[in-house]
Amino acid sequence: MKDTLDRDISMVDLKSQYKRLKPEIDRAIANVINQSSFIKGKALKDFEQELAQYLNVKHAIGVGNGTDALQIALMSLDLSPGDEVIVPAFTYVATAEVIGLLGLKPVMVDVDLNNFNISIHNLEKVITHKTRAIVPVHLYGQSAPMDDIIDFAKKYDLYVIEDNAQSIGGSYFSKTNQTFKTGTMGHIGCTSFFPSKNLGCFGDGGAVFTNNDSLADKIRMIANHGQSKKYIHDRIGVNSRLDSIQAAILRVKLKELDDFSSRRQKVALVYDEELSNTDGIMIPNKEKYTNHVYHQYTMKIIESKRDKLKSYLSDFNIPSMVYYPIPLYKQKAFSSFYDGSGLTNTEVLCNQVLSLPIHTEMESETQNFIISKVKDFFRNE
Ligand SMILES: *Cc1c(COP(=O)(O)O)cnc(C)c1O
Repeated sequence: MKDTLDRDISMVDLKSQYKRLKPEIDRAIANVINQSSFIKGKALKDFEQELAQYLNVKHAIGVGNGTDALQIALMSLDLSPGDEVIVPAFTYVATAEVIGLLGLKPVMVDVDLNNFNISIHNLEKVITHKTRAIVPVHLYGQSAPMDDIIDFAKKYDLYVIEDNAQSIGGSYFSKTNQTFKTGTMGHIGCTSFFPSKNLGCFGDGGAVFTNNDSLADKIRMIANHGQSKKYIHDRIGVNSRLDSIQAAILRVKLKELDDFSSRRQKVALVYDEELSNTDGIMIPNKEKYTNHVYHQYTMKIIESKRDKLKSYLSDFNIPSMVYYPIPLYKQKAFSSFYDGSGLTNTEVLCNQVLSLPIHTEMESETQNFIISKVKDFFRNE
């Protein structure tokens, strides 16, 4: 295998995806500009309807980004200051940040070592009389164990808000033999359309979904300055909108989402087949209750070798990423919530995870080059 590749390798190749969809996307953007209906226009209404239909959920509401989606979802629950909200310790900062921002208390729970998601047997350890909600994250594109989480939430009368920013398009196969799209099983689901997400727009964007009519009304109101009718403000809200250009782009891409997912799954399958027998690598597991949509292809590498592998790959201009290097409870921003006890699995994962490039436009030559260098590293170690 060659020592260089005559092309740049990126974690996610947005440019090639755009080129493939260019005529339709350009037309969609031009349409919005021609109509000059940039905010709350027809494109947004159409997208919200199409997204709701795709997810099989009653309401989908476009907002400014995924972090706002989580914040607005929490605001709609009308919790009281100091109320506790359970979040996984191993996630992107946004999930816990909005809880702290609203004067609520993020309570971090350890995750499962194999699927990286909320670990059920740890939930009972953190429940108190102040616990009001739980925010499972479907990390890297694989659903959290929602049957168990929903049973737990029912037992303690908790709200469930799904952080679906990394798993839009994924499915969950419930114990009642129903198939749900991720993000539609809790009271509220949230997602992000950040460009590199599985369904990404050309800037910031996000959405909130729910089957509950009164929550949907509240969410719409909060996202629009707490306004119930024009210039009638019933509560303190925010200004958080998905604009028409982003909505028009997302309408084009939503039609491709299942194809995007299967392209990612094909790339993952090749990595799985090629790397599963390499000593030192644990390929991502696949839970039977969900179909993984591989926002990330995240392996586990024995601690001491993870960073060495990462730098070895970068010598060949192969990017790889550590999502996430530091547990949230070790971040200064969360020091006031942290009681000092470490969460074992989260600590281990922060030292072991490494994500390889995966996206909808991966070419075999590029992927084979990445695989050969990963194998070379372990051969030489
Ligand atoms: C990306 C992401 C968010 C935040 O989305 P933004 O659109 O960047 O605000 C929240 N949670 C998770 C798990 C994410 O990956």
